[in-house]
Amino acid sequence: MKSLHHDRLMTPGPTPVPEAARLMLARDLRHHRTTEFREIFRQTMEGLKKVFCTKNEIALLCGSGTSAMEACVVNAVPRGGKALVLYSGKFAERWAKLCERFGIFPILYEVPWGRAFDPAVVRDYLERNPDIQAVYATLSETSTGVGHDIAGIGRVVAETDALFVVDGISGVGGMECRTDDWQIDLLAVGSQKALMTPPGLAFVAVSDKAWKKRDAMTVPPPAFYLDLQAYRKSAQTNDTPYTPPRSLVAALLESLNLLNEIGIEEVWRQTSRLARAVRAAVTAMGLTLFAERPCDVLTLIQMPESIDVKRLLSDLETRFGVKIAGAQGDLKGKAIRIAHMGMIDELDLIGCVAALEQLLIEQGWELTPGAGLTAMQRELLR
Ligand SMILES: *Cc1c(COP(=O)(O)O)cnc(C)c1O
Repeated sequence: MKSLHHDRLMTPGPTPVPEAARLMLARDLRHHRTTEFREIFRQTMEGLKKVFCTKNEIALLCGSGTSAMEACVVNAVPRGGKALVLYSGKFAERWAKLCERFGIFPILYEVPWGRAFDPAVVRDYLERNPDIQAVYATLSETSTGVGHDIAGIGRVVAETDALFVVDGISGVGGMECRTDDWQIDLLAVGSQKALMTPPGLAFVAVSDKAWKKRDAMTVPPPAFYLDLQAYRKSAQTNDTPYTPPRSLVAALLESLNLLNEIGIEEVWRQTSRLARAVRAAVTAMGLTLFAERPCDVLTLIQMPESIDVKRLLSDLETRFGVKIAGAQGDLKGKAIRIAHMGMIDELDLIGCVAALEQLLIEQGWELTPGAGLTAMQRELLR
């Protein structure tokens, strides 16, 4: 049944884009080899560094988040080298696939989906395999809802010659990520998640340790567009080596300004509060949280067997205008994912939980209307 409503995008990418950023996309297109664009680029780099908590050089790529991941592979480990992949979830799997594609041997430290990695075990792997050249990790594993202990793992990797590479695509800008303090050598980020910008931009923050490895490569990386050296050279004059998607960059700058006006640490605090409220609602509705160490930018909720998840998601969308995500892999059809980052706010989440309650009750789940909401509001009032 169709009904009148406006759409509420509450998926872990893409996320809603603020009006100031959207308006930049509607402006007349201007050329990019200009003083005007170099100033936009300079401010964008400054804004990104604040949000990423880094002084490192950042490469701005035109591509989805995966292009940044690919750059983090080809610029870090030469063909024939070894890498340790912290393997748990769809996106961690992508690190392993990328390594294999470029002739790098991935050693897998695997934990079941929903579990978190232990820095002490990472240390064991590194001690037993001193020829590991890079450790590939994920800040917030979007397919499981786990937030990994990047600070703890970073301390372990920093004691070795290996590079610490982190997929921060869904987490950075929403949850705590201190690139420099946590000694992340290569950080991959995408525009369409907590950075509140349409898909199409990707970023790699590169430490001195990572530059040294790249500069020491005797054979150039098996990629041309993704060779990071070109980006470092152009950045010296606030330029990009190839045509930048200028409108997207201008939109990104508006979103970064919003984040930095609030202050990134305050944004983390607010996201974390919303995450706690959603988790309280989930438990109160008698549902199960999947992640043992939940991240702050999304919540993965396991659904009871009696619930038709496909119908639930479609009812949410057609009757309430709420677009949330299903799950991937073995969880497909058995779980849902609600994002709480960027422009997704308190009222959106209250509405989403209320709609979920109604639909669950309609499908026969035993639940007192308002039980989830009450727990959520208690948490928000704390
Ligand atoms: C979304 C996401 C990606 C993939 O990004 P694309 O923009 O689809 O290429 C990679 N890793 C994580 C953790 C993500 O959430």
